Amino acid sequence: MTTANERIEAARAKFGRRLAILGHHYQSDAIIRHVDIQGDSLELARKIDALDAEHVVFCGVYFMAESAAALARAGQKIHIPDPSATCPMADMAPAQRLEDVLIELRSQGRLVIPLAYVNSSAEVKAICGLYGGSVCTSANAKVMLEWALGQGDAVLFLPDKHLGGNTANQLNLQAGERLQISLRKNGPVVDHKKAAHARLLLWPGSCAIHHMLKKQDIEAVRKAMPGVRVVVHPECSPAVVRAADSAGSTSHIIRYCAEAKPGQVIAVGTEANLVLRLAARHKAEGKTIVPVKALRCSNMAKTTEERLADLLDNLESATPITLADDVAEHARVALTRMLQICS
Ligand code: SF4
Repeated sequence: MTTANERIEAARAKFGRRLAILGHHYQSDAIIRHVDIQGDSLELARKIDALDAEHVVFCGVYFMAESAAALARAGQKIHIPDPSATCPMADMAPAQRLEDVLIELRSQGRLVIPLAYVNSSAEVKAICGLYGGSVCTSANAKVMLEWALGQGDAVLFLPDKHLGGNTANQLNLQAGERLQISLRKNGPVVDHKKAAHARLLLWPGSCAIHHMLKKQDIEAVRKAMPGVRVVVHPECSPAVVRAADSAGSTSHIIRYCAEAKPGQVIAVGTEANLVLRLAARHKAEGKTIVPVKALRCSNMAKTTEERLADLLDNLESATPITLADDVAEHARVALTRMLQICS
């Protein structure tokens, strides 16, 4: 019987340069061994433009493939092995709700600029493009929030309140300058008196995976492993980020481990697939890399070798991700703004 690995290799041989497989760092090793390009959301978004492959298979979650579809050239087809692999945090910010909230906030006469974390739907990105805003990744959130603050009276940051709060801390925004909005159906979105002074309005979303990491987990790992250095992802709460030695995007975490001295013990607070891969990569250098806690994203895990092989077996007839023309156009505006600002 042909294995999934053999089917993937056969498809590679058949399609050659007409096929490119991209994979996010949170994918399992079984998938990563098949990818042409591995990266975080920003790194992968930057590559789309230069790819000449007709079929781009995106191993990650749905919003990432949608961003790729918004940036793809005419005729380029973007596929995802399992379209049900969504990001629950992205789902916390429905596009229509965002537009309603934005209109309500702007009705008070203040120019509120939307800034969406890349973990959001294409429709949400399109609204950001349409309303003079942009998007950001965890790698460039500081630069993009600083930019957005300069574009109007206030910024509506969504959907991740933790990334928004951690980035605001980096920019020294005071507590009185921030306000978390409410999404209760019948209540007001904000206290408009308070909102009149707020420069940063935070959407009340978060990543359930990174939110599981608590300050006490870091205290426990420090007690168990004296001398350990702790690095976490900024989707963790501000309390966790404060308790760590360093915080940053997946690329930052990868660099942090690469630059550590031989013999160093490092505890990493992010998705386990990445942590275990880093542990294996740096073991021979005498570095010990462990997870602060086993964090697993069940949506990232939906991409299996079998699903990838199934897609590749039927690639010519598979339905690629498509976006409505206006959504693609405005989402591209938001994404391109980010890529230009951060070039
Ligand atoms: S780890 Fe969190 S933010 Fe990333 S895809 Fe999973 S749920 Fe979404």
